[in-house]
Amino acid sequence: MRILILGGTTEASELARLLADDRRFEATLSLAGRTVSPKPQPMPTRMGGFGGIAGLQAWLRDHAVEAVIDATHPYADQMSRHAVAACEGLALPLASIRREAWPRQDGDRWIDVATPQDAVSALGQDPARVFLSLGRLELAAFAAAPQHHYVARTIDPPGDIALPPDIRFVFDRGPFDETKEEAFLVEERVAVVVSKNSGGQATYPKIAAARRLKIPVVMIARPDKPHGEPLESARAAVIWLAGQLAHRPSSTSRRSV
Ligand code: NAP
Repeated sequence: MRILILGGTTEASELARLLADDRRFEATLSLAGRTVSPKPQPMPTRMGGFGGIAGLQAWLRDHAVEAVIDATHPYADQMSRHAVAACEGLALPLASIRREAWPRQDGDRWIDVATPQDAVSALGQDPARVFLSLGRLELAAFAAAPQHHYVARTIDPPGDIALPPDIRFVFDRGPFDETKEEAFLVEERVAVVVSKNSGGQATYPKIAAARRLKIPVVMIARPDKPHGEPLESARAAVIWLAGQLAHRPSSTSRRSV
């Protein structure tokens, strides 16, 4: 059975690992191409946008895909919207691995905002030391608040985007460690953290460290992503795929369609 996995997450990588040697499935992992050197994957991987809904549909048809797993990041809402529309149009089964948001805990000092632009406003007028734990494409919004000192952690250099003048980059990728995150926040004398509510374990240590240090976190809200059949994990996706395999039309009737 031919499968497309829309990836870029820990869950997508885990699913790729689970399916790599499973001869029932012939899967391709699709990455947006946001990172220059993504982690090596144990299955065929394609990179870059499809060209909107029509482009995705053409790719699915050309590759005779029979089921799609959306394992994109909770903030990658456009890709999910396109996946829902494309699969509806082609009557293809679609399941979506949905990562729970981090719940607010006692002691968290979160300031909830809707967008990166609102996060900029929430920082206020007085110069502050700000830790930006965001994707590089979201950093441009902070050029509107040049009075702050920023330290930004990204996987790759930011490339050609507008940036505030006083910004230093730390290049790293999760998973992160709570003790090291606390040391980092103290060392950098961070007064406020800006983060997405990505969920999962890999990037949570900075949130726990901020709580212990009583540092406020400006938390950018999740988009409301459309989805297919909701799944909790990569393992649940394998079970769902096995169900699709069991219920798909026989190869004879598929050939005659
Ligand atoms: P997006 O806004 O949902 O997608 C924008 C476009 O990128 C899509 O329309 C599609 O282009 C392409 N795209 C996205 N995911 C793709 C995939 N898996 N395979 C092929 N093409 C893909 O997503 P985004 O711009 O990548 O990111 C939005 C937010 O998610 C940011 O906050 C970012 O930090 C976060 N995030 C993304 C990733 C990731 O791997 N994408 C990982 C971690 C965090 P076409 O319309 O041309 O098909």
